[in-house]
Amino acid sequence: MSTENIHIVGGGIIGLCTAWYLKKEGCEVTIIDRNDFSDGTSYGNAGMIVPSHFVPMATPGVITQGLKWLLNSKSPFYIKPRLNLDLMQWLWHFYRSANEQQVEKAMPVLYELNERSKELYKVMAAENGFDFGFEERGLLMLYKTRKQAEEEEELAEKAHQLGIQADLLDYNGLKRLEPEMDMDVLGGIYFPGDAHLYPNLLMKQLVTQLKNLGVQFISNSSITDFDVKGSKVTTLKTDSGSTIPVENVLLSSGSWTGLLLKKAGEKIHLQDGKGYSVTLRDTNNRPRIPTILSEAKVAITPMGNDLRIGGTLELSGLSQKVSQMRVQGIIESIPAYYKNLDVSIADETPIWKGYRPCTPDGMPYIGKSDALTNCYVGTGHGMMGLSLGAVTGKLISELITGQKPMMDLHLFRLNRF
Ligand SMILES: Cc1cc2nc3c(=O)[nH]c(=O)nc-3n(C[C@H](O)[C@H](O)[C@H](O)COP(=O)(O)OP(=O)(O)OC[C@H]3O[C@@H](n4cnc5c(N)ncnc54)[C@H](O)[C@@H]3O)c2cc1C
Repeated sequence: MSTENIHIVGGGIIGLCTAWYLKKEGCEVTIIDRNDFSDGTSYGNAGMIVPSHFVPMATPGVITQGLKWLLNSKSPFYIKPRLNLDLMQWLWHFYRSANEQQVEKAMPVLYELNERSKELYKVMAAENGFDFGFEERGLLMLYKTRKQAEEEEELAEKAHQLGIQADLLDYNGLKRLEPEMDMDVLGGIYFPGDAHLYPNLLMKQLVTQLKNLGVQFISNSSITDFDVKGSKVTTLKTDSGSTIPVENVLLSSGSWTGLLLKKAGEKIHLQDGKGYSVTLRDTNNRPRIPTILSEAKVAITPMGNDLRIGGTLELSGLSQKVSQMRVQGIIESIPAYYKNLDVSIADETPIWKGYRPCTPDGMPYIGKSDALTNCYVGTGHGMMGLSLGAVTGKLISELITGQKPMMDLHLFRLNRF
């Protein structure tokens, strides 16, 4: 058992999962969040657990595609034009990472991370007090065009090389998996090893379980600065003027982590990838299997009786604005694939938004600060933060309690750019 005392800044999925594994090791844990642990990026996401997502976002073809998308106001990708040094540097490192060599290095690692995380969620789901809709029904990626079909065939080939089951299906094969759905597609790829869960339930149940285990929660408190003595953080300063003395700190503050680290004189490259989701209640006709509409980059996930639809990635500098055009783009794409899926949303239907913490190379930051010996960082999981939450929590808890991490953390180091 460990006697470490840790303050976690940020109670999203990374912060809560880390608290879960630290508590199991016997540590004293306090979680601080500027919100009240009821909403945020870790709640309204598409809930997919994705060993199928072993290819990082920065790939050789993505830059040309991204530039085309920038010209379309309903497309799934947008960069808010602005002269910002952090954005320019991020884009430069993204460009440098978008090469075959880097992708080859990343693929087996991303797969292992996701696979291990899925197994950890499976164990968590079986524990008393948890019932968050974890199901292993796989993932369908549907495509309409010949060009996309070629990309998916290439993806399936890469998956097979890594030993991942990926089934290329024609219309009849898809109909066998989704007999109730009327599809207008050329084909699809089915990853039977993927899973999904209801993130809002997972987050709520983790908070309850952690409180029961004695984890302290400080809500509505924003950390604005640190006191540093020698090479250690000694105090966290809050927006209300109070101070919190600390022994060890984990920064798992999602898309805001870079801003906090900057206060301590350390730089990581991180941009927020804003996305939207809509949750339709008690839907009747809907896919049984979580689906990605490949050309549209839209995710559709059955969650209990509800159906969640999510998409877009906007690098917009943490802007609060909801782009109705892009939300419309998400909704309008659905009947082009699932003809009988009714997705008409009423004016009052809430549009949820979240900020994916994106690194230039698609690998998370999991490790220790270079400058501060008692400061750990867990962020940068981009579009896979939910999927990788459990394994990240486990890895950071192993690091903090002085155990040998279950995976090599070299590719996740903070100073790799
Ligand atoms: C539309 C959409 C769909 C997605 N779908 C999926 C999916 O299907 N599968 C998947 O794996 N991932 C998905 N993601 C990505 C996933 O949601 C994120 O990667 C993940 O939630 C990030 O978790 P986090 O804990 O790092 O950050 P967050 O959830 O953002 O948590 C960070 C916390 O830190 C707090 N905080 C920040 N700054 C401070 C401060 N200074 N002081 C105190 N508190 C602070 C914030 O309030 C917040 O609660 C999706 C994202 C979006 C937007």
